Amino acid sequence: MIGELTCACENCGDPLGDEEWRLTMETAAGVRHVYECDCDCVTVTVGASSA
Ligand SMILES: [Zn+2]
Repeated sequence: MIGELTCACENCGDPLGDEEWRLTMETAAGVRHVYECDCDCVTVTVGASSA
């Protein structure tokens, strides 16, 4: 579970969940979750900060 954050594809608006999740990366600005939708659109969301 990623938390209360809900995210949707930037292209088609489909909800993005575990099946669409591809990777989580940590950047200097924080955690980003990357999702790839069935429509081939890649959406990056801002993850919850643990700070
Ligand atoms: Zn989509």
